Amino acid sequence: MSKSGPQLGRLMQYVCQDGYELLHTGVGGFPEGLKAKTDRFVAGYPYEEPSLLHDFANVTDPEDLPAFCDRYGLLTTDPDGVENVPHLYREAQFFRGVLSAWVSLKPGKEPVLAEVLNNIQVSEDGIVSVTFTDGSGMAWPASGIIGPSPIVENHGYSQKFTEDQLHQFIATVITQKMSQHGGISITAEPYKTTDQSRANIRTFIRPACLLVALWHMLSELVGTEESFGQCGQCGRWFRASGKNAHLKVYCSGACRVRHHRTLKAPRL
Ligand SMILES: [Zn+2]
Repeated sequence: MSKSGPQLGRLMQYVCQDGYELLHTGVGGFPEGLKAKTDRFVAGYPYEEPSLLHDFANVTDPEDLPAFCDRYGLLTTDPDGVENVPHLYREAQFFRGVLSAWVSLKPGKEPVLAEVLNNIQVSEDGIVSVTFTDGSGMAWPASGIIGPSPIVENHGYSQKFTEDQLHQFIATVITQKMSQHGGISITAEPYKTTDQSRANIRTFIRPACLLVALWHMLSELVGTEESFGQCGQCGRWFRASGKNAHLKVYCSGACRVRHHRTLKAPRL
């Protein structure tokens, strides 16, 4: 992430030079684990990787995970550990869900926002559940998201979700996600702006693992002009920056051209 001043978040990853492989327990079964092929590692710096967030959002199949790890290393365990693939797959789905909820709050996305708000249900026992257009969903306790004023319907919970509550919901989800898998520490550390300059000291945020770093990086982007979009042609997530970033519809020029060709193609 390019930003003025030293970056707040710091993480050094061990990335296996020989890549990663899925571990299948049964023949043709859903992969259970993922690990480094060898013990030859190089250092990686996820906070300097501009495509990290949308690369994770594009993990839509367990088979996508090795390529992701080839580039960024493992998400939750030690460099020589074994990842829980079903868990990571659900985390990627969840990450996409939060991205689409956040993107729906951008200006010009009112119809999408209306749809997202419409797909949020609050149960009588206070569980908020959200269903997204891609079929993914998430559920969260309503306390801390709805309130403080009790509304006497649905056992104290309003069934109608508002824009402000969606903001609070996303913030709550990110906060809780950042506390899992070892969480985050705040440390005071020496740093230099250039190799030649004198050292100074400031605070840094150190996530315990790559998955926590992903959520932290997302929280840093919420409220900036940067945005994410889901390509109207190929469906992949992409990152966009600039004034109207949130209105970009295609991930690439190739997808825009392909989309317009599809529209113009004669029907047979
Ligand atoms: Zn595309």
